[in-house]
Amino acid sequence: MPRKTPGSMKPPEEPPVQPLIGVARLRWLVEFAQQASGPTDPGPERRLIRTLGACLKTVTLRAEGDGQIMDLSQTEPTTLALPLRGEDHQKSVAEKLALIRVSVQTLLRQSLVSVVGRTALQAEVTLRRTWSGDCLQDHPEAHDLRDALAYVLLGDLATFYERLSRCAAPGCGRLFVRERRQRYCSVSCRNRTTFQRWYRRHRKAGRGPTPDAAKKPRPPRAT
Ligand SMILES: [Zn+2]
Repeated sequence: MPRKTPGSMKPPEEPPVQPLIGVARLRWLVEFAQQASGPTDPGPERRLIRTLGACLKTVTLRAEGDGQIMDLSQTEPTTLALPLRGEDHQKSVAEKLALIRVSVQTLLRQSLVSVVGRTALQAEVTLRRTWSGDCLQDHPEAHDLRDALAYVLLGDLATFYERLSRCAAPGCGRLFVRERRQRYCSVSCRNRTTFQRWYRRHRKAGRGPTPDAAKKPRPPRAT
């Protein structure tokens, strides 16, 4: 029996990605939509695609050409593994991820405007109805990952819309899914804003810190 060389050893199994639903899915998609780019390393990229798949457990992704069903949570990040409509399907994984990110961004932005303007947002999927004698089932299907994501995202937004917020820190404006009365997207935005407010108040009162003291701020504890 030939000895195993290090090169022939299989990489360690990655832990399975759990299905994402509800507010956890909305939070993940909001974060995903606001990432600047990447990832470019194969490991994090594979993880990202599997998590996208974990968001889409309620929609069947079916390739446009051969009708093959794709499960992103299981697959390697090849170009074919990310089904998009028409010519977009031939693009690289990185280009496809950028397109998918833009489509989620657009939908989130539209949702903030549309609910005020009362314009309905739409997601187009096909409903495949099956009857196996004793069981009738309806499954949404999409040929394009962007349609599938729009379908799950509209469901989550309809339920958790009130929690989609913009960060109140001046100059930030990031979208996030808030917990209770959270007003800032991150601890750093919260601390920065609290300090600025405290600094302005003290300066106005004429008992502001010296420039040296301002470098080492000790604002009141933020809540
Ligand atoms: Zn922020």
